[in-house]
Amino acid sequence: MYANYHTHTSRCHHAEGTEREYIEAAIKAGFRVLGFADHGTYLVDGADYRIRMRPEETGEYIATLKRLRDEYINDIEIHIGFELEYYPTYFEKTLNFLEKFDYEYLILGQHYIDDGAEKLHVMKGANGDDMLTKYVDTVIAGINTGKFSYVAHPDVINYAGDDAFYKAEMKRLCRAAKAKGIPLEINCVGVMKNRCYPNDKFWRIASDVGNSVIIGVDAHSPEELLMKENVRKCEEISRRFELFPLRELKFVNPKM
Ligand SMILES: [Zn+2]
Ligand SMILES: [Zn+2]
Repeated sequence: MYANYHTHTSRCHHAEGTEREYIEAAIKAGFRVLGFADHGTYLVDGADYRIRMRPEETGEYIATLKRLRDEYINDIEIHIGFELEYYPTYFEKTLNFLEKFDYEYLILGQHYIDDGAEKLHVMKGANGDDMLTKYVDTVIAGINTGKFSYVAHPDVINYAGDDAFYKAEMKRLCRAAKAKGIPLEINCVGVMKNRCYPNDKFWRIASDVGNSVIIGVDAHSPEELLMKENVRKCEEISRRFELFPLRELKFVNPKM
């Protein structure tokens, strides 16, 4: 694998390892490009920051990566980004806060669909039609902000309902991504942890719609960058559905 744009660090409070440890692991694994997209801060009233960095932790994340980007310039190409949810009420305020930092890209990872309350996690429990529609609407609204460079694990929702309904709803998501030219990610953590994603049903729809796709390691520990079997399984999925993962990502400038 040439490039991975989905790398976390211990700064998000649920991953382990320093930036340097991830970079060393990526070099060892043979990556030429490593993008950090740790869970960025979100300016939600009363947020507890259990699963993302605090506002005041942002500066050190950026400064560390800029330092290491220079230090490792001959070994690997480093990029600096964030993974963010789309919480409509707080998105603009959060982007305004991030504006002053030197970062290059955002990926959309929608785990919650309750506008910042973070009680409704779409992977937990068996979700019905209402939750699926809410998830798809939220992701589409996120895509349409034009701020995100790709959609992380678009198939993260655990849905227990009807196949035809799933297909109709996910087709809306896939079409919205295609209309904006935003790739969809086949996610290695889902493979590694045997989660409900990557979901064959979803990738068949993406194949029909003709989406561009990208593989993301979503590393929450440096070792995960070395687990090539997860990447191979994602490649198998892409082959099965005649999807051709991008080698490199074209960033959408989140500051425009
Ligand atoms: Zn995470
Ligand atoms: Zn992630």
